[in-house]
Amino acid sequence: MQCFTGMAGDDEERFIMKHFNHFIITCFLFLSLAAAAQDKEMEREKIRQQEEQKKSDKQRAVNRTLDSAVYLMEQGAYAEADTKFIYVLKNIRSVPSDLAYYFGENSYQLGKYKQSVDWLNKYIQLKGTNGKFSKLAVERLKVSESKLLEERQNAVQQTQEILSRDYDVDCGPSGKVICPVCSGSSVIVKKTYLGETYKPCAYCKSGYLTCEEYNKLLRGQLKTAQ
Ligand SMILES: [Zn+2]
Repeated sequence: MQCFTGMAGDDEERFIMKHFNHFIITCFLFLSLAAAAQDKEMEREKIRQQEEQKKSDKQRAVNRTLDSAVYLMEQGAYAEADTKFIYVLKNIRSVPSDLAYYFGENSYQLGKYKQSVDWLNKYIQLKGTNGKFSKLAVERLKVSESKLLEERQNAVQQTQEILSRDYDVDCGPSGKVICPVCSGSSVIVKKTYLGETYKPCAYCKSGYLTCEEYNKLLRGQLKTAQ
């Protein structure tokens, strides 16, 4: 009896020990997996916080640059302000309405009227007539638009000047050219139903034009002999 129970006790003990070991190993694995997962989560959280920090640092730097750009503009340092405004525009996620006004105003001061009209219009679109700078923006926009129009008209005029026929053609060292009207024959041939008629060329003598005459002819200013 004693022996039997002893045997049974040993088996039971072995059985329990074996399962206890399994249990311990399972617990250990579970705990280390949980710990690893927690480490990973903490790592992720840390990176997230660092990224947030970076973002808000950058945001603060952009805001500081914007403040200094506005200050420079108010001091009349438009070119320096322009550089800073452009930096802000490149680094900002969405453009606040005030920035649209400031950049439009600064562009006007730099004579960049097209840019000025564009940004001032944007401000008015965003804020309507009740914005902090609406009145100023509308006034400035009027001037900018008329300056832009003036600029465009000047550009058209300049193009016309370049294309103008007021330039004299250089006829070369001989100073004369073959008359283009009669092709140098000094005779104009006209075909009628009666046959061909011949008339002396009204523009040249002996088939040649002087350079002065030639340039006049090109401008439609050469008078005929008749
Ligand atoms: Zn001729």
